[in-house]
Amino acid sequence: MSRTYLVTGAASGIGKATRDRLQGAGHRVIGADLKGSDIAADLSTSEGRAQLVERATELSGGRLDAVIACAGLSLFDPLTVKVNCFGAFATLEGLRPLLAAGNDPRAVVVASVASVHPADQAIVEAVLAGDEDAAVRAAQAAADRGAGGVIYGSSKQAVARWVRRTAITDEWAGAGIPLNAIAPGTIVTPMTRPLLDDPQSRAVVDASVPMPLHGHARPEQVAPLLDWLTTPENTHVTGQVVFIDGGADAVLRGDGAW
Ligand code: NAD
Repeated sequence: MSRTYLVTGAASGIGKATRDRLQGAGHRVIGADLKGSDIAADLSTSEGRAQLVERATELSGGRLDAVIACAGLSLFDPLTVKVNCFGAFATLEGLRPLLAAGNDPRAVVVASVASVHPADQAIVEAVLAGDEDAAVRAAQAAADRGAGGVIYGSSKQAVARWVRRTAITDEWAGAGIPLNAIAPGTIVTPMTRPLLDDPQSRAVVDASVPMPLHGHARPEQVAPLLDWLTTPENTHVTGQVVFIDGGADAVLRGDGAW
């Protein structure tokens, strides 16, 4: 049966591959991105977040069957926290009433295997406290001391922890809406291509995200997982961070995860 999806970051990479797959299967996809999609919205701003919800409500008639939050950035800059965390949370929370009106509603957000890298807990805790100004200040402080590289992983760790806390609440599990995250390893997209094209940066990426199974992935290899997590078939997977990383998490954390 045809379902209606809202996908953020739909103009590029993982979001685009997911949109293409879902449309190819006959579903309706409302895409959102900075530009080049059905809804133009800057998820780093409160205006853009409100615009997303307003336009999605208009275009969908107030009902969505699934939301897939892919929009994200990996800059050594507080903007990364604004988009990856607060933009994603505003997407999921803002569209939850539309999901509640949909059929077999499901939601997923894209975290990252970088969520298991050492994080700046000042950033993570500020995000989990819902304090965007404090999170931005903590990220700026990291950038100012030359530790901007920690911002991305910290933003994704906060996303993973937020999903685990949020998925089991009355508003989500209690309302029958599975909410999960996926944690990709290195996926070849416009986000990573410049790094992977440079041999020195590629070596750094591969050392921090070792992928013994099949190496780097293409976005089309990630889309089926997002697809399945948002099908009616997924009745009981919720609050999970599903790694699609060629084994990177198992290498990095080993038994430590348990
Ligand atoms: P991408 O750059 O191809 O796509 C990201 C999309 O997000 C772009 O279309 C961009 O315009 C959009 N976006 C950025 N800032 C935005 C804003 N302020 N408002 C609205 N949209 C905005 O990158 P991708 O690799 O497809 O990344 C998709 C998601 O997957 C991101 O959340 C990223 O962090 C995550 N991820 C990627 C990898 C990887 O290796 N590529 C690994 C793990 C996680």
